[in-house]
Amino acid sequence: IEFHQVHKTYRTAGRDVLALQPTQLEIASGEVFGLIGHSGAGKSTLLRLINRLEEPSGGRILVNGEDVTALDADGLRRFRQRVGMIFQHFNLLMSKTVADNVAMPLRLAGNYSKADIDRRVAALLARVGLTDHARKYPAQLSGGQKQRVGIARALATEPDILLCDEATSALDPQTTAQVLQLLAEINRELQLTIVLITHEMDVIRRVCDRVAVMDGGAIVEQGPVTEVFLHPKHPTTQRFVLEDEAVDEGEQHDD
Ligand code: ADP
Repeated sequence: IEFHQVHKTYRTAGRDVLALQPTQLEIASGEVFGLIGHSGAGKSTLLRLINRLEEPSGGRILVNGEDVTALDADGLRRFRQRVGMIFQHFNLLMSKTVADNVAMPLRLAGNYSKADIDRRVAALLARVGLTDHARKYPAQLSGGQKQRVGIARALATEPDILLCDEATSALDPQTTAQVLQLLAEINRELQLTIVLITHEMDVIRRVCDRVAVMDGGAIVEQGPVTEVFLHPKHPTTQRFVLEDEAVDEGEQHDD
């Protein structure tokens, strides 16, 4: 994923908000890349530009060498099948069963037979450990199980990229750890590129290869996770690392 001087300004009634300053970024195929920053830093905007849920105000975005900023509606529809996404509040259809939620992207894609869909949904539910819950409705599941449905749905069309927008922020620490472990397994086994947003250093530390720290609509620091943790340069990064250490010590005292 390459960003070449990509920027985004939201125009709302009489006011312009520069949400993403001109940004240069490269995310390698198969890596887990974290975006961390406080609320309003521009993380969601950057993430949603990757699959053009937001249109850039300028610049070029390349994915696997293809200029996705130049795609027409049909090209964009096909491109989006290559990019899965999961959300903080899961965004499941409450009136549909687990299996039907996972089948939804395949039905929308239009080029899968019913037998293909059934087979693929069964394999996806097995992958995320929800085989026994296929006929349940989202309201009958825990938060962690709902996010597993979200992950299975995001993987339905066999994407190369998975975008995670605060995917563990609504979950308790133990469930967070389980979902992060599942994401790490998927990354390894499917060679999936993962871009994830979080406001917790702990999430970055557990699964990411590299991290970019955002502040005021810009990436203020980026690098391999160990490097950024050991030698944080920007004040925002230093604050995140200090907060993380404070949480760590708190946990040790509790033990
Ligand atoms: P983060 O994900 O880091 O919390 P966002 O990318 O959501 O940050 O927001 C960056 C900035 O853009 C914020 O100032 C936010 O208020 C503004 N913003 C985000 N989405 C919109 C929108 N649809 N319309 C207007 N302003 C927006």
